[in-house]
Amino acid sequence: MKKVAILGSTGTIGRSTLEVIRHRPRHFRVTALAAGSNICLLKEQILEFHPEIVSLERKEDADFIRNKFKKYSLRVTHGLDGAVEIGGNPGNDIVVSAITGIKGLKPTLAAVRAGKSVALANKESMVVAGALLRAEARKSGATIIPVDSEHSGVFQCLAGEDRRNVKKVTLTASGGPFFRTELSELQEKTVEETLAHPRWKMGKKVTVDSATLMNKGLELIEARWLFDFEPAELNVLIHPQSVVHALVEMRDGSVLAQLSPTDMKIPIQFALTYPERGDAVLPPLDLVRTGVLEFYPVEAKRYPLLRLAYWALQEGGSAAIALNAANEVAVAAFLARRIGFLAISEVIHRAVDGYQKRAVRSLDGILDVDRLMRERTSQIIQQRY
Ligand code: MG
Repeated sequence: MKKVAILGSTGTIGRSTLEVIRHRPRHFRVTALAAGSNICLLKEQILEFHPEIVSLERKEDADFIRNKFKKYSLRVTHGLDGAVEIGGNPGNDIVVSAITGIKGLKPTLAAVRAGKSVALANKESMVVAGALLRAEARKSGATIIPVDSEHSGVFQCLAGEDRRNVKKVTLTASGGPFFRTELSELQEKTVEETLAHPRWKMGKKVTVDSATLMNKGLELIEARWLFDFEPAELNVLIHPQSVVHALVEMRDGSVLAQLSPTDMKIPIQFALTYPERGDAVLPPLDLVRTGVLEFYPVEAKRYPLLRLAYWALQEGGSAAIALNAANEVAVAAFLARRIGFLAISEVIHRAVDGYQKRAVRSLDGILDVDRLMRERTSQIIQQRY
């Protein structure tokens, strides 16, 4: 029985992880849950899965839960320290890292340093600290298994292959809700329209990133660190059906693809059971019912942020940290209705423009660039919008 800790248990990935575990109660035991502020859902999760320790973002919420469960032997902590304690707990076998944004970095790093299996859904931590996470994993013996569907696809295609035989990797993108929208209408797109993703049910931040294609940009950078690919070997194709998640082209012209139903429970289960496989918790993929699978090149005008992600990929150093920070601030401003949809990309371009690259190796260095870039981006929004 593997002991599982979940960072971000009340989010979309956290909930899907618990659904997978619900189907496999003899294989997994939930020992720790770190949540944000959804105390109602965390209460239900505690009653069902009986973790030994939980953490919430705010102290008031932690006090409430502690009081509610005072008859249980449940330890309740809070804040970033609480999440870090859960990630780094030596009793974990697997840590599912599913806190969104750079907030997930420290708890993820703690899990990697503890030498655990880390099922990684928090792409931002790989984007800003890929080199550091890889170096720490080498030292501690931690295994990082991707949960992001595209990276799980690449990971599965690469299994047993000699890396030298791989020529090119393609991540697919659904294109988001505005793939077929007239460019002139993008200006008017509301938060609600942006959050209405045609294929995937995801958290708000990643859904907005999916509409701008920044999500794919972050995933390119994530792939670079997970699999050690050069920028020129990484490619993106729009595939509105989201059935093919990744394509790996071999030297001899063969292309391997990974297909599965559009549901995160598939890659989550693979990360939990790896290197084994468990029985499916979903109906099988029915390609006849799915119908036509389409592929399109990325339209640069529609998705200007993808080019910026390639820039960060080429540039290296702190460029990805800067890009990620600007994006997190711009997306938050859009969700708060401070700026419009097209302004997300404008703000990020302005924030990154003229940015001085630095070589960053330590966690403090990363967080420093992140903080500076957040300030710069907030200033741009305040002054111009
Ligand atoms: Mg993805």
